Order: sequence, then C-alpha cells, then structure tokens
Amino acid sequence: MILRTERVHGGEQQGLILVLCAPSGTGKSTLVKRLLAEFPRFQFSVSCTTRKPRSGERDGVDYNFLSKETFLSMKEAGEFAEWAEVHGNFYGTPRGPVQDLLNQGKDVIFDIDVQGATQLRQSFPEGLYIFLLPPSRIELERRLRGRETDSEEAIARRLGNAAAELAEARHFDYWIVNDDLELAYDDLRAVYLAGRKKPVFRPTLLQTILRTFQ
Ligand code: ADP
Ligand code: 5GP
Repeated sequence: MILRTERVHGGEQQGLILVLCAPSGTGKSTLVKRLLAEFPRFQFSVSCTTRKPRSGERDGVDYNFLSKETFLSMKEAGEFAEWAEVHGNFYGTPRGPVQDLLNQGKDVIFDIDVQGATQLRQSFPEGLYIFLLPPSRIELERRLRGRETDSEEAIARRLGNAAAELAEARHFDYWIVNDDLELAYDDLRAVYLAGRKKPVFRPTLLQTILRTFQ
C-alpha cells in the first residue's frame, strides 16, 4: 500500500545528481551509457571541452566542443558550475542546463574529473559521489590502448595522471571497482537505486502519506 501511494502520487519529483569519477580509460563512459539506456529518467550532463573530438564523438551529445577562446569567455562570465584543466585541455559543466534538468525532476549524471567533483559538491552536497577504480595499472593501460582513440602521448599523459587521481578517491562516498563490467554495473545500479530512496529526493512523499492519517 505504501509503495502504491508513493508511485501514484509521485513522491520522487526532485532530481538527483550522480557524479562518476575515475582515471581516464577505467570505463566511465561505458557504464554511463548503460545507466542512460536502463533509466530514462537519467540525463547526461554534456560538458564543454577544448579537446578535439575523438572519432565517433558527436558535438552537443558527447561534449560541446569549443575553442579555447569561447571556453575562457564562458568561464569569465561565470557560466560553469565547475571547470578544470585536465590532461592539458579545459573541461566544464554549463550551469543552466543542469539546473533546468533538476527542476524538471530529471536525474543528472556527470562524467567529470576529481577537481570538478570537489567544486560540484559545494553546490550540490546531497549528490551521489562515486569513484570508479580500475583493477590495476596494467589493465588500465590495456584499456586505454584498446580504445584506439588516443595518441601514444595522450595515453602516457593519462596513465601518468592516474595515480594522483586515485589518491583523491578517499574523498568520495562510494567506491566501485570496474573489474568485471557486469558486476561493476550492478554495483552502480545499486548505489543509484539506494540513493533515490533518500528523503531529500522525495520531497512530497511523507506529506502524502501523513495526509491519509488525518
Ligand atoms: P573512460 O570513459 O573512463 O575513459 P571508457 O568507457 O571509454 O573509459 O572505457 C575504456 C575502454 O575500456 C573501452 O574500450 C571499454 O570498452 C573498455 N572497458 C570498459 N569497462 C571494461 C571492463 N570492465 N572490462 C574490460 N574492458 C572494459
Ligand atoms: P576525456 O577527454 O577522456 O573525455 O575526459 C578526460 C577527463 O576529463 C575525464 O576524467 C573526464 O571525467 C573529465 N571531464 C569531462 N568533462 C568534464 C567537466 O565538465 N568537468 C571536469 N572537471 N572534468 C571533466
């Protein structure tokens, strides 16, 4: 009965944010795609970047690909909820679209680096902050190479930054090891589904039930 009341009266109107961080090549994009496919309520926060598109990446879908000048003028105008320089390129989350999605009750997923996650936590402390861990350095290198999207120089730079990024994992609320993809996805799903049950994301639920006691 309680479950039915909750669903009928939609006690989950407030969108949540889920932040997934990991060293490049760990498997964030792969897991984000699965989450978006399974839960239509999820929307991906499309970042802006000065990095060049990889083959198959679409402007406005994977990223908004910008010139450095455009990025820096947006930054000066305060248009980013967070931004960072990562692996020699600028990346940032435009504030407006995220706020619009949350106001519509959508859940928003972020694939951002650890510096961005720290900034975002100041604006959205109630979000779900998840760190995805590669099982080992060798496996991370294998995945970066297997993706066949980055130059040797870019791979070396990304691997070189990985240990420092991993050292920041302790600031996150959840750790998920992406060893077996299916198991990692099950863990991610579990964190999301449990997070959705937090009272902060269900602003009308209790009132709806209490009203039946009057
Ligand atoms: P990121 O977005 O973190 O940079 P990707 O999602 O692009 O990483 O994954 C990097 C590569 O590793 C891709 O080729 C992807 O198919 C592969 N991959 C992702 N997860 C696993 C896994 N659990 N086992 C093996 N390969 C994986
Ligand atoms: P890639 O170039 O492999 O797509 O991403 C490189 C790194 O930049 C990843 O760690 C990714 O999470 C991060 N990144 C992507 N978008 C953003 C963003 O908007 N802000 C921040 N801070 N990092 C981002």
